[in-house]
Amino acid sequence: MSVKKILIFNWKMAPQSLSEAKRLLTNYKRPITNNEENKKEIVVASPSVYLVYLSSLSSVVGRKSSVKLGAQDVFYENSGAYTGEISPKMLKNLGVKYVIIGHSERRKYLGETDEMINKKVLAVLKAGLKVILCVGEPTRSIKYKVESIKQAKNYIKKQLEKDLKKVSNIKYQVSRNLIVAYEPVWAIGGSHSDTPEDALEMIKYIKQTLNSKFYILNSRVLYGGSVNSKNIGDFLKRPEIDGALIGHASLKVEEVKKIIEIASKIV
Ligand code: PEP
Repeated sequence: MSVKKILIFNWKMAPQSLSEAKRLLTNYKRPITNNEENKKEIVVASPSVYLVYLSSLSSVVGRKSSVKLGAQDVFYENSGAYTGEISPKMLKNLGVKYVIIGHSERRKYLGETDEMINKKVLAVLKAGLKVILCVGEPTRSIKYKVESIKQAKNYIKKQLEKDLKKVSNIKYQVSRNLIVAYEPVWAIGGSHSDTPEDALEMIKYIKQTLNSKFYILNSRVLYGGSVNSKNIGDFLKRPEIDGALIGHASLKVEEVKKIIEIASKIV
């Protein structure tokens, strides 16, 4: 049986009002199909201020819902005096199913360290939620491509070693609940994606590393970085690429519809 591909739409810090968020969400619909293989998992990672409202909508609750809700971050404790933070339990009780952890923008602007990210990964897995762990190298040289890919692999191996420390000790279904998003930092921002060939090489490497270092088999590994309706097909048609994390394009109504439509035709 092939692994179900997943599309994660990261709204980042947008839109600016609940009414816009409601309107935007209505565009996230899975095409009606009887072919189970073509039913993609669709996740909207909304700013946390909208999660309460969005979680009450029939389109995002229930087993047959067309979209699932994701959070863009979480704290690593379930209780205590941590002003401003949101716990894994709070998200779970709200019906949120996925949590993005370690996004490069949080690593860069909020000073998130691998140690913090590791604590978050462990807390979210323990809460029974799905983790979308973002990893990716900061730069890549086109001129020295082979050398540069080697360096990128090394960089990501180190990130995985730190971010997934002690994950093997968790008895929960780690493989099923851990999703890794390969997001080369230089490709994030909506204008220059990685090539599907190079992304595939990196994704295969991440899968091998999960397997050999952490005994994690069958976790899904996605590509993220300037994915849009023009390139989504090229990424998703490769069987080893289990889905995509989409940033900027997730706020553009026509793009969202096209991306979902194109993805639904790829098994
Ligand atoms: C992201 O937010 O993780 C992302 C990949 O953004 P973009 O699609 O805009 O590059």
